[in-house]
Amino acid sequence: MGFFICYILCNFSYWFNFKLVLIFLMKKIITLLILVFSSLILFGNDINRTMGRDTDPKSISDISRFKIFTKKAIWEALSLPGMRFMANMIFSDNIISYLDIDDKIVAFTIDDGFCGKNNPNGDMTDEVVELFKKYNSKATFFTSGSHCDYTSYESIKKLLDDGHEIANHGMYDFPYNKHSESEFKIDFDSTHNQLKKYTDNIPKWYRAPHAKTSKIIDEFLDKEGYLHIMCDGFANDTSIPDPEWISSFILRKINNGSIILIHMPEKGFREWNFKAMELTLKGLKEQGYEVVTFSELYNSI
Ligand SMILES: [Zn+2]
Repeated sequence: MGFFICYILCNFSYWFNFKLVLIFLMKKIITLLILVFSSLILFGNDINRTMGRDTDPKSISDISRFKIFTKKAIWEALSLPGMRFMANMIFSDNIISYLDIDDKIVAFTIDDGFCGKNNPNGDMTDEVVELFKKYNSKATFFTSGSHCDYTSYESIKKLLDDGHEIANHGMYDFPYNKHSESEFKIDFDSTHNQLKKYTDNIPKWYRAPHAKTSKIIDEFLDKEGYLHIMCDGFANDTSIPDPEWISSFILRKINNGSIILIHMPEKGFREWNFKAMELTLKGLKEQGYEVVTFSELYNSI
């Protein structure tokens, strides 16, 4: 009898460890596949630190229907295990992609505002602020420091007065994961100083451009008391110019405590995202969600 119990326990511990190793390896393989797929097929190779806006489509007509269909199919396939599951796979534990809450609240985040340097007449800040007002919703604008030149001071002040917030998204829309700590600090501080022109109330949230982080970035943010915020409601909107699909994808995938991301629309550049925002806000209201800034979501826990 003793031998039998011992045999069971030994085998149990063997299989238990074996399973853990297997799960660990599978996680690593899936993560690697996702990263290779993402960088090569969806975003393009950015070894030369090309800005996202240089390689992304500017309007719907820049990309063939077949390519849009393929990108949508890949994104749907990648998200099959669930956006939260995928976020947990890709990002380390210190990155927040959603909050575990019971209430019907989601945070809306908008990246790359306000208007790119190569699009001086493209600013849509006022339109976006009006849109959010119409749906009684708030957003956190993860702002690129270099994208503030073609938006009026008054527009950004109005945005803040309306209850939205601006947060650090680096000076430029390219990955910083190869930067040294001193290089990253210069960029981080420059962005912070740019944002401080509009308000002293800058939340301690950071979002790495292209979702590419590094040990150096994570340790720097930790030291500065910042939290690194990603998302679990993102439809690869910079690459897939289809507002109906973007909103339906987000509305299908989000849950209580989700963090939604749609990139800032500009006239003639990613303009489809304005419609995507409207359809998403409309759908969220129909589903009974309160749409708030990340600070409000965070403080609701
Ligand atoms: Zn960005």
